[in-house]
Amino acid sequence: MMDPIVICIDDRLANPGDTWSAAGHVDEHSYSLGDHDFELPGGIDYDVVLTNAGEGILATGLVRAHVVGTCDRCLERAEFDVASEVDEYYLFEEPENLGEDEDEADYELVSADRTIDLSGALVAALVMETPFVVLCREDCRGLCPVCGANLNVEDCGHAAELEAERERERMESSPFSALAGLDLTGGGDEDDAPTGPTE
Ligand SMILES: [Zn+2]
Ligand SMILES: [Zn+2]
Repeated sequence: MMDPIVICIDDRLANPGDTWSAAGHVDEHSYSLGDHDFELPGGIDYDVVLTNAGEGILATGLVRAHVVGTCDRCLERAEFDVASEVDEYYLFEEPENLGEDEDEADYELVSADRTIDLSGALVAALVMETPFVVLCREDCRGLCPVCGANLNVEDCGHAAELEAERERERMESSPFSALAGLDLTGGGDEDDAPTGPTE
C-alpha cells in the first residue's frame, strides 16, 4: 500500500471555483495487478489540479511512471511507460440519497481534518493504464512448449518439428489421402480443396 499523499484543503481551495496545482514525485517502488507484480524504478510522477467544485474537491491530471514487469510469454523482463489520467472526486459530505445511485458512488470523502489523500487516485490511474497482458515486445515469440527455450533468442527447432508433424497428421486424416489410391475426386469435408459447402 502506497504512503498517503495528504493535501490540505485550506484557504487556497476555500471557495467554489478555486483551483490549486499539486505536482510531485512519489518514491513508490512497486504495485500489483491481479497476478502481476510491477516495479517502479523511477517512482511515480504526478501533476494534478485540484478544483473546489462546490460539493467537493475535484482532482484531475496526469500520473506517469516507468514500469518493469515480467513478460507473460517468455518470462523475461518487460518494460513500459504508463501515462494515465487522474480523475477523482472528494466530497465534503457523504451524500444523503445513497443507495439509488450506488453504482455511481465513485467518490472519496474529504477527511474531517479537511485533507484529502491523493495516493489512492494515483494508484487507481496507474492500474487503469497497466496492460492486462504484459509483453516484452508486441511480437514476443515466447517459450518453446517442448524444451522451454526462449524463442526470441534461439530457434531450438521444435516449432518446425511440431509444424511438420501437424502437417503429417493433417495429410493422414485427409479424406484425399485415404482415397489417394482410388480414382475419386471431391467428397471431402475437412480439406482445403475448393469444393462447395457439404453436409
Ligand atoms: Zn517476451
Ligand atoms: Zn524447443
